[in-house]
Amino acid sequence: MVLAQLGGSISRAIQQMSNATIIDEKVLNDCLNEITRALLQSDVQFKLVRDMQTNIKKIVNLDDLAAGHNKRKIIQQAIFNELCKMLDPGKPSFTPKKGKTSVVMFVGLQGSGKTTTCTKYAYYHQKKGWKPALVCADTFRAGAFDQLKQNATKAKIPFYGSYMESDPVKIAVEGVERFKKENCDLIIVDTSGRHKQEAALFEEMRQVSEATKPDLVIFVMDSSIGQAAFDQAQAFKQSVAVGAVIVTKMDGHAKGGGALSAVAATKSPVIFIGTGEHMDEFEVFDVKPFVSRLLGMGDWSGFMDKIHEVVPMDQQPELLQKLSEGNFTLRIMYEQFQNILKMGPIGQVFSMLPGFSAELMPKGREKESQAKIKRYMTMMDSMTNEELDSSNPKLMNESRIMRIARGSGRQVREVMEMLEEYKRLAKIWSKMKGLKIPKKGEMSALSRNMNA
Ligand code: GDP
Repeated sequence: MVLAQLGGSISRAIQQMSNATIIDEKVLNDCLNEITRALLQSDVQFKLVRDMQTNIKKIVNLDDLAAGHNKRKIIQQAIFNELCKMLDPGKPSFTPKKGKTSVVMFVGLQGSGKTTTCTKYAYYHQKKGWKPALVCADTFRAGAFDQLKQNATKAKIPFYGSYMESDPVKIAVEGVERFKKENCDLIIVDTSGRHKQEAALFEEMRQVSEATKPDLVIFVMDSSIGQAAFDQAQAFKQSVAVGAVIVTKMDGHAKGGGALSAVAATKSPVIFIGTGEHMDEFEVFDVKPFVSRLLGMGDWSGFMDKIHEVVPMDQQPELLQKLSEGNFTLRIMYEQFQNILKMGPIGQVFSMLPGFSAELMPKGREKESQAKIKRYMTMMDSMTNEELDSSNPKLMNESRIMRIARGSGRQVREVMEMLEEYKRLAKIWSKMKGLKIPKKGEMSALSRNMNA
């Protein structure tokens, strides 16, 4: 996902600012200009970027910040908040309730991934115990019904459509009525994404919407549409009451910044993202954890939730204790590598941390990453207990490094690379020092503290 590059550029800009001895107007401006450039290159609309810059400057008034204030933290927090504001329209979208019939209509241009996303959305809810159904109201594109039928059959979701009927409004109404009678609680209506002219497409959407009275209209947008995102999203919003956005193909080479623009144009939140062609390549979208990850801050609230969810109760205190001590030894790294390789519960937890996942195990290169981890572990097998249990980097002098290389049949260069990896992970781990062990439900406060 190229958004990760955006995150990298923003993190680097913040890091450069942090490295400056004094944070003055020039250093702040350089940092903001760098962030502006990164956002524009990621296809975020110009006006949004300019507003963000102005807002940060309003919040961070360097003259008013007395000495002793941690300017770096205040600026970082302001950037975090502004990015969240861009992605959060301030009001949640309508959320369907289980057991109570809701009609959800999908709109978007042809090729945006609308039909695929309808099924993903239905499948997601079906797995959570809903009774979804799909209605194909796209009579314009030949093959649209077949595609929906195929997807729905694969996912064992009831569907409705017609090869003969050419009136999309009629089909939509019939489908919704039928599934209401069958007590489906989530009726999803897929609409056409293309017409001879745009005006006809929007008119048809309006008619389907008036006839089916959807509780929620979801606008599906391809993440690769770039700067056109804002105008396209706005055009849909002007025709029907868009209440939520789903951004697709976030797994591709798209810059993804258009998602931010679509939120601004529709004043509706992104609720899911599509991350592949398969049915389950679909993720719930939450603003704060997303921006945290984007800025390489780690998804702390998700991380803690995951610990409670997947780590056996009896192992939780020990793990949290180690985290709160912040002392990352090579032995802990070894144990976590074992977990990652087994992908056991704790492995799953650690794969949520930025350093453990994105860099150590990049998506699509799992095999290589596993080989690397195994290599590191072989080298660690040649270490003494003292070396494994120490968190003092100075202990690892030249003669120890040479001994480990000889013992494991590896190059000195490789041992040094492994120790560099250790230092990098130790830095991430140290951020958790002093971690107050929260009870379930106290996560958001924790996330605020960690992100500050
Ligand atoms: P529609 O014309 O808007 O209904 O679009 P389709 O659902 O037919 O999707 C168009 C193409 O995009 C198909 O080849 C889908 O498999 C593909 N697609 C949809 N969503 C995603 C996604 O999240 N990631 C990737 N890589 N491809 C997707």
